Amino acid sequence: MSDTMSLYTMNIQTYTQEVVNLHTHSYYCGHGFGEVTEYAQEGQRQGLKLLGMSEHCPVPDNRWGTSRMSYSMLDSYTKDCLATKDEYAGRLEVLRGFECDYLRQYQSYFEELRSTCDYLFFGVHDLSLDIGCEYSMFWNPLTKDDLIAYTKFYVQCIESGLFLFGAHPDVFCHSYRAWDEEAIACSKAILECALANDVALEINGNGMRKGLVKTSYGTRYAYPHHEFWKLAAQYPVKVICNSDAHNPSYVNDSMARCLLFAQECGITYSSFQVEKDRGGNSGAKLSLIGGEHPGLEKRGAVSC
Ligand SMILES: [Zn+2]
Ligand SMILES: [Zn+2]
Repeated sequence: MSDTMSLYTMNIQTYTQEVVNLHTHSYYCGHGFGEVTEYAQEGQRQGLKLLGMSEHCPVPDNRWGTSRMSYSMLDSYTKDCLATKDEYAGRLEVLRGFECDYLRQYQSYFEELRSTCDYLFFGVHDLSLDIGCEYSMFWNPLTKDDLIAYTKFYVQCIESGLFLFGAHPDVFCHSYRAWDEEAIACSKAILECALANDVALEINGNGMRKGLVKTSYGTRYAYPHHEFWKLAAQYPVKVICNSDAHNPSYVNDSMARCLLFAQECGITYSSFQVEKDRGGNSGAKLSLIGGEHPGLEKRGAVSC
C-alpha cells in the first residue's frame, strides 16, 4: 500500500447506527429549540459519537419561510456548527448538514451548498407549487391524488442526485390512513427509485413521538408505518434511523424504539463512514454502507 493510500484509509472513521443521529433542528428554523452547542453537549451525554446538525434549509427567495431557517442566518449557522465541531473534536464528531425541501429551480443552489457542507438530505412536507400557498402533509387527510403527487415529489428529490438520504418516506401515512393498493404502489415506487439511485431512506423517530393513531386495521404510529418498512426489507435499499429532534433532550431519544422497530420489520441499518480532514471548506465526506436485510438472502433481491 502506498503512503498516500494508507493516509487516506486512516482518515475514514466508521460508526454504527446506535451512536449516530443526523437529523436535528435547533432554534434556527423557528420551530425548534436549543443552540447547536446544546445539541452536542446532550448528544455526548446520551452516548452519540456522530451528530449531524440538519437545519431546515433556506432558499434564496425564502419559500417555506414560516417553518425554515431564514436565508440571512446561513452564515451564523455555519459558524455555530464549525465552532461546535472544534469544541467537541476527539469526543463527538459534529457535522453540518441541511434538511432540504426541493424543487427543480433550486438544483444549482443546492449543488453549490452541498459542495461547502457535509451532507444534504430531503423531506417532502409541502405538496404545493405555489410559493404563497403551502399544502402541508400534516394539515388535512390526503386523497389518492395527493398521495400520487407526494410520490412524484419524493421520486424527483431522489433523482436530483443531491441527497444522501430521504427523510420519513412514509410520512404520507400520517394523513393517508389506509394501507391499500395505492399506498403499496406508491411505496414500491419510492423504494425502487431509492434503490436505483443509491439513496438511503430514514425511519423517523419524530413520527414515533407524535403518538399512536387508530385506523380501521388497528393502532399504529402515524409514521413510521410497519407495512412500509416490511416492504422495504424486501429490497436491498439502505436504511438509517434518526431522531429528527427539535429539542436537545430528544437528540438520541428514539434510538431504542427505532432499533426495535427495524427488528420487527426485518430491516438492518446501514453504517456510516466519515472521511475526515479533507481540508479547505469542503467539509467531511459522509457515506453509508448497507442494504443487507436478513430476509433478502432467502427470498433473493426484488428486481426493479
Ligand atoms: Zn422541523
Ligand atoms: Zn426534520
